[in-house]
Amino acid sequence: MSPSTAPATPALSELDRPALGALLRDLKVEAYRADQILDAAWRSTAATWGEVTTLGKPLQAMLGAALRFEAFSEIVREDAEEGATSKLLLTLHDGAKIEAVLMRYPADKRRGSGPRATICVSSQAGCAVGCPFCATGELGFTRNLTPGEIQDQVRIARRILRGEGRDLTNVVFMGMGEPLQNADAVLAAIDGITDPKRGGIGQRRIVVSTSGVVPGIARLATVRPQVTLAVSLHAARNPLRDLLVPLNRKWPVEEVIAAAAAHHRTTGRRTTYEVTMIDGINDTDEDAQALVRVLRGSDAHVNLIPMNAVAHTPWHESTPERIEAIAALLRAAGHSVTIRRNRGRDAGAACGQLAAEQAGAPAPAAVARRRELLVTASAAALKGERTREPIAPSGPLA
Ligand code: SAH
Ligand code: SF4
Repeated sequence: MSPSTAPATPALSELDRPALGALLRDLKVEAYRADQILDAAWRSTAATWGEVTTLGKPLQAMLGAALRFEAFSEIVREDAEEGATSKLLLTLHDGAKIEAVLMRYPADKRRGSGPRATICVSSQAGCAVGCPFCATGELGFTRNLTPGEIQDQVRIARRILRGEGRDLTNVVFMGMGEPLQNADAVLAAIDGITDPKRGGIGQRRIVVSTSGVVPGIARLATVRPQVTLAVSLHAARNPLRDLLVPLNRKWPVEEVIAAAAAHHRTTGRRTTYEVTMIDGINDTDEDAQALVRVLRGSDAHVNLIPMNAVAHTPWHESTPERIEAIAALLRAAGHSVTIRRNRGRDAGAACGQLAAEQAGAPAPAAVARRRELLVTASAAALKGERTREPIAPSGPLA
């Protein structure tokens, strides 16, 4: 894990239960206060120590001096889709910016489920994988998030929902970053958000999405067998996947699918495969047939997601007809398929897009060069030639 510059004062969520107990002992505060503090942090609408009046003024002041209430120095919220989606742009103590997206869904009578709310969390500031259709990939990698910085995205979501009389039901690791390249922190954060005194979210309601970190998939199966695995596949043919998910050069399609199949055997949990649909790039019948070939025998669910436009790429979403055609081919082969509408698109909430905008536009010449390289590289990949060099991001942080 790459080091993050530790701030002078830790945030409450950086402390696990024993560490919080030790801090309270040092401050000569009674041990029973720990639960009260966690309740205030996770089950109220308080956003500062000053608002946690149940603790009393002296303890509020003492905690205020020893601990930051939460990991972020600034929270900017932008609502979209008539209030169904809230995008949160969060500034970390060292100025790095990340995003989290809160999505609210009404009750579904047909399925007999109540209202749901999902927070999509980031696991890193930026991402080192560099998928060329992804706005986070464009930013390059800044640093890993700490477990507290991950948990506090969940905490803020709960706080916002509490103010609306609703509760958080699901957590998905589909924001910025590759969660399994920061697995220690992600697993520690899952401990926090499943702790009944903190997030209280069931493991089964958590999804970890990976671009295919094979050893990480095996580790997840062993240590958190109830967490759902989502694999960002995007293409089943190696030359194209090399381009779309550069990690494929290290762990090719067959190894990723084998790791997911082993995960399924160990955990009994069905894998979800994500395919971002890019017009003319990965949406031909040949692509669908290749998907059918690699997924043969697996009881998988496939999500087809129209690509959100990202400024630095020459690519855009597949037509609805193409997406329907691919879905039909996959269904005919016995797979269950969902065509996803990309939540938050109307205000630019695709993975990493909000933070990318804040980071400033890359130089037009760099964008033009990158677009040109992508056009050449995708043409070669579609002819079946494997690319050797990743397309370097043109972004301001690269
Ligand atoms: N790094 C992890 C998790 C974060 S990305 C992963 O890649 O799985 C979460 C999902 O958003 C991935 O499936 C990714 O492919 C998708 N995504 C990224 N950029 C997108 C875009 N421009 N349009 C649609 N989906 C996108
Ligand atoms: Fe990273 Fe996922 Fe974006 Fe690829 S799609 S660059 S792995 S965040």
